[in-house]
Amino acid sequence: MSDLAVELTAPNGVKYTQPIGLFINNEWVRSKKGEKFASINPTDESEIVSVYAADPEDVDDAVAAARKAFKDPSWRDMSTTDRADLMFKLASLIEEHKETLATIETWDNGKPYTVARDEDLGEVIGCFKYYAGWADKVHGQVIDTSPAKLAYTIREPLGVCGQIIPWNYPLAMAAWKLGPALCCGNTVVLKAAEQTPLSILYFANLVKEAGFPPGVVNILNGHGRVAGHAIASHLGIDKIAFTGSTATGREIMKTAAINLKNITLETGGKSPLLVFDDADLDQAVKWAHIGIMSNMGQICTATSRVLVQEGVYEKFVETFKAQVKTTSKVGDPFADDTFQGPQVTRAQYDRILSYIETGKSEGATLVAGGTAHKNVGAGKGFFIEPTVFTNVTDDMKIYRDEIFGPFVVISSFKTEEEALERANDTTYGLGSAVFTRDITRGHRVARRIEAGMVWINSSNDSDIHVPFGGVKMSGVGRELGEAGLDAYTNKKAVHVNLGTIL
Ligand code: ADP
Repeated sequence: MSDLAVELTAPNGVKYTQPIGLFINNEWVRSKKGEKFASINPTDESEIVSVYAADPEDVDDAVAAARKAFKDPSWRDMSTTDRADLMFKLASLIEEHKETLATIETWDNGKPYTVARDEDLGEVIGCFKYYAGWADKVHGQVIDTSPAKLAYTIREPLGVCGQIIPWNYPLAMAAWKLGPALCCGNTVVLKAAEQTPLSILYFANLVKEAGFPPGVVNILNGHGRVAGHAIASHLGIDKIAFTGSTATGREIMKTAAINLKNITLETGGKSPLLVFDDADLDQAVKWAHIGIMSNMGQICTATSRVLVQEGVYEKFVETFKAQVKTTSKVGDPFADDTFQGPQVTRAQYDRILSYIETGKSEGATLVAGGTAHKNVGAGKGFFIEPTVFTNVTDDMKIYRDEIFGPFVVISSFKTEEEALERANDTTYGLGSAVFTRDITRGHRVARRIEAGMVWINSSNDSDIHVPFGGVKMSGVGRELGEAGLDAYTNKKAVHVNLGTIL
């Protein structure tokens, strides 16, 4: 193991072995240049450990391993039942190591431990099981054209897939991408986000233990502009799947054009949540709170723009403020009663604080939060008070920009038409929510909202069985559900001549 793993004790007392290398061909290696970067604990700003950062030459090695594995009969010709078994084995290993994985996730990312363990890891396990179930059910089709021809399709894997994941749900985002890629027979080079490099390395050991052949899953850490760019531009990679900011997604799309890679992008959002006069107000407040304040507001589908019909506006704002006060307990993410941990990095923390100043200078009314929270431990860490602005107009930056923090803007509207117009007045189109007791209105609004997903009378209760993705500048393609398989297969057409004689 030498210097490729370190014994660590997490703040909750969990002791474990943290790999720090690059996982290529089922082996741990150093990066060729030997460069490392540090992972910082957002709760107290201390350094947890440094990990190796991949350079383009390391990406070359990972791609070569993935290409070899893709062609190797041990993976290529594996029966789909055996492939499913491997994935079920991986799911059960994750279950066995759930507490350690959740501990690492909380330490590195700052999300509450109970959330990491019960929600994120629950989703990761569910996702691998779900796609394991698909592994032996991905079929082609027979297309009956005439007695002289038999035509059929084969659903083939795409090849070597580059997967670039973000820091807000590190393991869950890896699972969303690895699940469908592997069940369809692809091989993978996955890069974690530099803000949260640790949990995915521990996970890599489980991939090997589950019995995946060498080179099927390769996992790297590294800087976006270096290792990420090397993946997006690599001629040996057939597909890119990315989750992250819209700016980076656009950059990756351009880069991936080099060999016309198949592409799936899940990018930013400024998702609207509409509350009509006839809504169950208490439920609307509770879901609206979850929709923006959970995971420290670091959710691409966060319903960060709340539009409330004028008849219930004042009451909604008062009840929402009370909900924030009683529920959004900011604190040590390892404490059981913490709802909100620190933001992931100083950069995110500074960005949110600067948007708070923008909101004030734009003339919006700050009705809750608006400051850093310094009452955790010795006063360090990237904690921010849950922040609520009202009297927000549509031209304000805080109404238009994705802020990615515990930061919500609330505005009022008069009519359904106005609500829809304003909900759609954005370059984004990821999530959306509508609260009404009128079933007809609920479905009508759902059809007219420009978004990949609409929640009627809830917010952000995404589900691995249901397609996830955006329209407009929120993304390209879909992940999860059966739709997730389309992102990782080609339909090859085979024409069999049964009698056309020349
Ligand atoms: P954020 O802005 O929140 O840091 P990004 O969207 O930039 O998020 O990052 C998401 C993922 O994309 C990370 O794994 C990051 O390393 C990677 N990344 C960043 N820039 C690039 C790039 N130019 N090419 C490829 N990957 C990148």
